[in-house]
This record gives sequence, structure tokens and C-alpha cells, in this order.
Amino acid sequence: MKSADPSRLPTLAIVGRPNVGKSTLFNRIVGRRRAIVGDEPGITRDRLYAEGNWGGRRLRVVDTGGIIPDEAAQIPTEIFRQARVALDEADAIIMVVDGRTELAAPDLELARLLLRTGKPLFLAVNKVDTLAMEPYAEEFHRLGIRNLFPVSAEHGKGVAELLDAILEVLPAEQPEAGPTEITEEQTEEVRVAIIGRPNVGKSTLLNRLTGSARAIVTDIPGTTRDAVDELVEAGGKRYRFIDTAGIRRKGKTKLMAEKLSVVMARKHLESADIALLMIDATEGVTALDANIAGYAHESGRSVVIVINKWDLVITRHLDGSHRPLPYRAERSAGRHHPGSGGNGKRPADRRLYEQQVRNALKFLAYAPVVFISAKSGKNIDKVFRAIERVAAERRKRIPTAEMNRFLQTVDFERASVPASRRVKIYYMTQAAVSPPTFILFTDRPVKLHFSYERFLENQIRRAFGFEGTPIWIKNRARS
Ligand code: GDP
Ligand code: GDP
Repeated sequence: MKSADPSRLPTLAIVGRPNVGKSTLFNRIVGRRRAIVGDEPGITRDRLYAEGNWGGRRLRVVDTGGIIPDEAAQIPTEIFRQARVALDEADAIIMVVDGRTELAAPDLELARLLLRTGKPLFLAVNKVDTLAMEPYAEEFHRLGIRNLFPVSAEHGKGVAELLDAILEVLPAEQPEAGPTEITEEQTEEVRVAIIGRPNVGKSTLLNRLTGSARAIVTDIPGTTRDAVDELVEAGGKRYRFIDTAGIRRKGKTKLMAEKLSVVMARKHLESADIALLMIDATEGVTALDANIAGYAHESGRSVVIVINKWDLVITRHLDGSHRPLPYRAERSAGRHHPGSGGNGKRPADRRLYEQQVRNALKFLAYAPVVFISAKSGKNIDKVFRAIERVAAERRKRIPTAEMNRFLQTVDFERASVPASRRVKIYYMTQAAVSPPTFILFTDRPVKLHFSYERFLENQIRRAFGFEGTPIWIKNRARS
């Protein structure tokens, strides 16, 4: 469920070496509230992205700490090229330096690279806590960045001037390419993003999916630098796997790989219909998995949860290695079940495991779960089948007449909504597909209470399915 907010906010990236005060500035701009989604447990984790508000305008801030490697005096071009994925979506960049230290070679190097992006660039000379220190900031003009602002992120000084200047160049909030209008012709091709933490098996799965079927084209769209999609035909259907070059690329350090996996996921979600969210079965759902899953949910894309490396789950126990598995099927621990088919796992193990994954990712209750071994190729066909099913559900349209017959059967008294927030519901219509978006016509122009939304979503799913896809519900007062 989601109260749709289908706008693209102007985006601001904060870049700089360690300890210059990036996080302090980030927190200052977003008001220390990194959490975005209020009532969805599990998504409100440490975010790379947060929303801020300045002078009545909303903006999105990206903390690039760890993506732009900060310690290296020379940033290898290859690393910067990767990190640029994060900068690509920025409308403006703030480079932060420590005004109390001498200008150093890495700062010059970073400034040079940032200037080359051609994006509006602002230099925040931080830790200029007193007026007496301001003249020292002048030194940093040597970086070649014209927009220089002495600030004290800690004390909030100069931050207003900096943000005012940035907002002048930021584009206005853009309506995003939201759900597809019903009238639009649907293409047959299904666009798939493979997302997940480093090492969950994304490249391995990709090789399987493109290898098991007929790869017909490798196609390099002119617009997106570096992006290589692979088009595959299986069972008479066409699938486009998005930015396969990006999926195969690896981060140089663990931290960088992890942050890039989030940035990549967000980027890939943008052009996808369906996300294969990969989880490493030997590790269970980690905070980073939940974080990436949260972005998938918010994006409105359909999701299939792919639990990979299922081949390892029991083998590990048989190994005698007692490495704790956070979500392992408890009852199978240390035991082998010969004759239970497959590689010694019972259907019960799978159910238990699935339950635990679902507990950790409650907001993805609509997503089907498949267990695979990308390495051995086991159950790869199930991935294709899940994609196909979910793609069809995503495009499903319920006629208004049917919708309203359904609405008659719903007992809204059962939704636990405070009396003051109750609304009278007149009728409902499906306004869009991909994702299915419903408009509810009510007597008052108030935001639907989330219990209403949740209740209604459950009823809609019970009646119509919509497996794999989030459902967006909006309401309008009937005048
Ligand atoms: P990051 O590594 O770039 O994210 O830097 P942090 O935001 O973690 O800040 C590093 C250190 O600098 C922390 O101890 C902050 O308290 C301190 N700091 C940040 N901004 C200021 C400032 O404006 N003035 C002073 N004096 N210290 C600051
Ligand atoms: P990525 O970083 O998400 O692209 O992950 P990779 O595809 O590079 O896989 C990371 C490691 O996990 C590699 O050593 C793979 O061989 C291994 N791996 C991937 N899938 C499986 C699987 O299903 N079973 C086992 N045992 N290993 C796997």
C-alpha cells in the first residue's frame, strides 16, 4: 500500500572527503529526519536519500559518503565513473571542505572531477564557525568553484544562504512518469531489474536467465551512458533485463559496493516494470536488503522476491559448520532428510523460511517468493513464470462497474478507523495500471486514514489478486 506521491523531487548530492562535515550538513538540511515512510515498519532505516524542505520547496538529498571514495588522493577514473551513477541523478552538487585545514591535493582532484560533470556545483567551506574565520575561506577559491559559501553546518550558519543559492538553480518539482493511463497501448516487452546487495548472486542469475533462453539482441541505448540492456525471448515472450553492464560491475570496496547497490537499484527501478529482489538464503534478510526492498516498494514497481543460494542452506549444516543462519529453517538444522526430494529439503523448510522472510519484509506482502539456486540453475524456470504472472497482474484492469459491485460487498465498519477520520465512500474506479491505481470518491477532502487504505487494499487483493504489484489508492472529494 502506498499513498502515491508521484513527483520527482529536485535532487542534491553532498560530496567530500571524510570528516569535513557531510553528515552534519545532510542532517541540517533534512532536519535530522532520515525516515521517509511513516507507517511501514522495516523501511525506515538508515537512508542514503532523505527529503528536506527549504523555503516551502521540497528537495531530495543524497549522502554520497562511501560512494565517492574519499581517502584516495587520486580517484581512479573507473571508480569515479561508477560513482557517477549517484551523481547522475543529482540536479546540483555540494562539495564540502573543511575550512580549518589546508587545501589538499585530493580536494583539487575531486573538484576537477566534479566540475567535469557539468552540473551546478557549490562549494561549502565548512567549520567556519566565527566571522573572524571567514577570510580563510577565500583560500578555497583555488578549487575553481565559483559558488563558494563559508558555512558552519554544526551551528547552522551560512546554510540558509547556501540553500537559497542552490534553490535558484534547481528545477521545480517534476511530475514523474507515473502509472500508465488505461488507454495507452501496452507493449509486450517486460522490463526487469535485478536488484540486491553485493554478492547475493545478481550476476549469476542474470547469466542464467540470459543463457537459458535465447538472447536476441544486446542493445545500447544512446541516451544512457554505459547502460547495456539484454533482450531475451523465452516461451514466446520478450524480457528486457535492464543495465546488465551495471549489474555485472563490482564495487571496489565493501562500503562502496553496498552504497552503489542501493544507487543502482534505484536507478534500475526507474526503467523497470518488475524487480527481482534477490536475497542470499545463507544470510537471510539484512538491513541493507530491507532498505533496497523499501525503495522497490516505494517505486511502484512489481516485485518478485528471489531467495538464492538455496542449495547452500542445508549443506552448511551438514558441513558441521555452525554458522548461525538468521532465518534458517530451524527444524531442519543439523538434520538431513533423505528421500524428501531435491537436495534434502522439505517443503516445510521452505514454508518456514518464507514466513521468516515475509516477517522481515512485511510491506512486500504482495510479492511472490521463489527459491532458486542461480549457480546450479535449479528453479530458474520458476523465475520466468513468476515474472510472467506478475507482469499480467500489473496490467490488469477492473471495469468500474465490477469495482462498484465489489465495493457494495465491503463492510467498511470493520476498518478500525477513528470516528473523526471516517469518510463516506461513494464509488471507486481504477484510473491506471502499472501499478494499479484506484481513485476513491468520498464525501470529504481528507487524506484517507491508513487503516482505510490497508483495509481496502486487502479487500481488493482478496477479490482481484494483483499479485506482485503494489496498489495505489487515492481519494477525491466528490463535489
Ligand atoms: P563527514 O565524515 O564528512 O560526514 O563528517 P561529519 O558530519 O561526521 O563531521 C565530522 C566532524 O566535524 C564531527 O565531529 C562534527 O561534529 C564536526 N563538524 C561538522 N560540522 C562542523 C562545523 O560546522 N564546525 C565545527 N567546528 N565542527 C563541525
Ligand atoms: P552479485 O554481486 O549479486 O552479482 O553476486 P554474484 O552473482 O557475483 O555471486 C556472488 C557469489 O555467490 C559468487 O561466488 C557466486 O558463484 C555465488 N553464487 C551465486 N549464486 C549462487 C547459488 O545459487 N548457490 C551458490 N552456492 N553460490 C552462488
